[in-house]
Amino acid sequence: MPSAHHPTTILVINCGSSSIKFAVIQPQTGIELVIGQVDRLGETHPTLTWKINTKQQQLTLSRSNHTAALQKIIALIPEDLEIDAIGHRVVHGGEQFTQSVLITDDVLAGIEHCSSLAPLHNPANLAGIHAATTVFADKPQVAVFDTAFHQTLPRRAFMYAIPYEWYSQDRFRRYGFHGTSYAYVATEAAKKLSKPLGELSLIIAHLGNGCSVCAVEAGRSIDTSMGLSPLEGLVMGTRSGDVDPALHAFLATHKGWTLDRIMQALNQESGLLGLSGQSNDMRTLVSAAEQGNDRAQLAIEVFNYRLAKSIMALTTGLSQLDAIVFTGGIGENSSSTRAEVLTYLTLLQPTLDPERNAQHGTQSAGRITSDDSFPCLVIPTNEELMIARETLTLISTSTS
Ligand code: AMP
Repeated sequence: MPSAHHPTTILVINCGSSSIKFAVIQPQTGIELVIGQVDRLGETHPTLTWKINTKQQQLTLSRSNHTAALQKIIALIPEDLEIDAIGHRVVHGGEQFTQSVLITDDVLAGIEHCSSLAPLHNPANLAGIHAATTVFADKPQVAVFDTAFHQTLPRRAFMYAIPYEWYSQDRFRRYGFHGTSYAYVATEAAKKLSKPLGELSLIIAHLGNGCSVCAVEAGRSIDTSMGLSPLEGLVMGTRSGDVDPALHAFLATHKGWTLDRIMQALNQESGLLGLSGQSNDMRTLVSAAEQGNDRAQLAIEVFNYRLAKSIMALTTGLSQLDAIVFTGGIGENSSSTRAEVLTYLTLLQPTLDPERNAQHGTQSAGRITSDDSFPCLVIPTNEELMIARETLTLISTSTS
């Protein structure tokens, strides 16, 4: 429980399959006291980088597993920094978790149960929770799910047109991801647009390494592009997004590929990387295209067109549309992506303001279209702050 004499301080842990991001945040002010990450977990020499009071530090780890890395992370938190609670990002909460929860034995069993839907992610998230428990046995821990925000999807949006039993018995359906980011960005958009969230209809494009779009009405997700897994939907860094499902059979028949090989190709060798043959990073592709590289240009064109098409498709479920919002590494930093996507959205008549588009990004949220045309915005996401806020809400309600 937070004590009266110091601001509530939350340790946020985001355990990925081969990386861990962490932060120590005071959610009421948004102040980040520590921030860092471990990369290349699973390889021989993972690196731990972190920043305390703007001082950047780095360490090579000798042991390459989540628990050992988390013990190192926890050890570097200054002793005078009293942690009140720990907030964990958990990727898949299935249909069981419709909001963030205080972690109990039942919750752990539930997360374990959802592991079959996210075999690379949920076990890593559980490792993070167990490692934190060994050090902070007496502190409350909260799970914040990527999927929870999308549990408001109506069934016409979340059901696949496959035999009903695949849903009723195995829960194969659209879940959607990036929910923590959407919840944060929607709240910030309401502030920017000076309209209550409950009266707003938005389409938010979260464009990072993974990319998805979400239609948000009155603060609730009503449709989204990712599905049962984060492979569905938009073109991403290395993921194909939507393909004809029959492609799997063609690859098996014509190339003799196993299902594992096919999944690896669609998850790790496709998207911007596969189309360009060069990079999964939009920065590299934009500068290659500027120098006349046609494959880089092709990757960018397909990425932008598919994104615009998905944005327009998602308007189907909305009763009105107040704004389109860009976020994530590409959404915040790539002004050319935003500019080109807008050229496909002619039905909405957005008029890009090039000066505003160049000005806004990771450091500054703001509108990128002219005042007399359709509102398009950039809003930097902050999933760590959102997890810290959720954690604060839960520990406050559980102790009040
Ligand atoms: P995220 O997963 O949100 O950290 O986003 C990572 C992605 O953002 C990278 O793979 C890049 O494609 C993209 N990105 C970051 N900075 C820039 C930039 N200045 N211009 C274009 N794309 C960028």
